[in-house]
Amino acid sequence: MTAIDASPSVMGDPDENGRFGRFGGRYVPETLVPACAELEDAFREAWSDPEFIKEFHDLLRDYAGRPSPVTECHNLSAELGFRVLLKREDLNHTGSHKINNVLGQALLAKRMGKTRLVAETGAGQHGVATATAAALLGMECIVFMGEVDMKRQALNVFRMRLLGSEVRAAMSGSRTLKDAVNEAMRYWVAAVESTYYCLGSVMGPHPYPWMVREFHRVIGNEAREQCAELLGPDSNGGVPDVVVACVGGGSNAIGIFSGFADTNAELVGAEPSLGAAVGRQVPGVVHGSMSYLMQDEFGQVQEAHSVSAGLDYPGVGPEHAHLAEIGRARYEPVTDSEVIEAFQLMSRTEGIIPALEPAHGLAWMVKAKDELAGKTVLLNMSGRGDKDVAQVQAILDGDVEALEMMRS
Ligand SMILES: *Cc1c(COP(=O)(O)O)cnc(C)c1O
Repeated sequence: MTAIDASPSVMGDPDENGRFGRFGGRYVPETLVPACAELEDAFREAWSDPEFIKEFHDLLRDYAGRPSPVTECHNLSAELGFRVLLKREDLNHTGSHKINNVLGQALLAKRMGKTRLVAETGAGQHGVATATAAALLGMECIVFMGEVDMKRQALNVFRMRLLGSEVRAAMSGSRTLKDAVNEAMRYWVAAVESTYYCLGSVMGPHPYPWMVREFHRVIGNEAREQCAELLGPDSNGGVPDVVVACVGGGSNAIGIFSGFADTNAELVGAEPSLGAAVGRQVPGVVHGSMSYLMQDEFGQVQEAHSVSAGLDYPGVGPEHAHLAEIGRARYEPVTDSEVIEAFQLMSRTEGIIPALEPAHGLAWMVKAKDELAGKTVLLNMSGRGDKDVAQVQAILDGDVEALEMMRS
């Protein structure tokens, strides 16, 4: 046996410093190092315990409703000229993939003896997911949210309170997501004995990007099996030619990519053109890890802009930066107006109203129609569109006042 494997398999575990290639790591203040180390040990131990894995999978089945189906889109396929399959994360309890990660982390927190979850949230989706897991497992929950976001997403603030969580306004800086992250981290350091920080995507210091990927791996594992059955061995060995997902922090994309990394499927991440962290390929450190992020000429982190609040984030998870660098995945920008077109197309042809985030994936597929002709394309339908319908209506009606109220 050789001592060191110099070329770990694509999408294998990060190295002992939590790095995927040159990305990732743990860039945190001294005070947070022990908390990250404790979490890493607890996760390693839990993830090799069949009891924990069983508990997690039982919850995914009986509470979240997994496995989510793969749906073949006959109408859309006829319209676009290639075979379209959807992995239906929109059918999970609470309407998106986010439930996988929060159930995993909340179970881990309980196992570590913590009684309280803290989380950051931008538009409110991760906050609502965390509040849901806290209610289920009987834990206290505090969600930090920028004061500006709280005004714009009042309904999600109400949802979190209904679920028994406390919502605290982040009053510093621009009073939006990045300020909420800072305040959640500050709270965590001060109360680490009793408190678990439930992070919302494949971001942050090691072990979060790895751990959150592992909790979302179920998406890719299920899809691999379902595609094999649906496509049969004669169609590229039962593997789709292309696997597409939208990329905000990158968790739903990492989840589905992980099921196909060892195949010949092409992996494509769709990013908002004004939030295209991978597309710009500028490395930097944000919220505890080294990755690609949007920054200005002075190295200051730039605000991202997207029609979809769930993708409105200037950074991307470190493993995506690595997958881009080694050429295993590619990342393509789409504009807001292309996304609005795709949102309507999916609704009209298939009777499925998508969230604006996965509509980014479809928007890229429409643009790449010629390249995709005759192929089989699997899109991760990361969430349902109910939350976005009022915003799209306002956009299509040109209702500037309503949009100003909603946009975060
Ligand atoms: C939050 C969210 C996203 C963006 O997060 P990722 O970590 O990039 O997956 C995408 N789609 C939906 C439906 C979401 O709720």
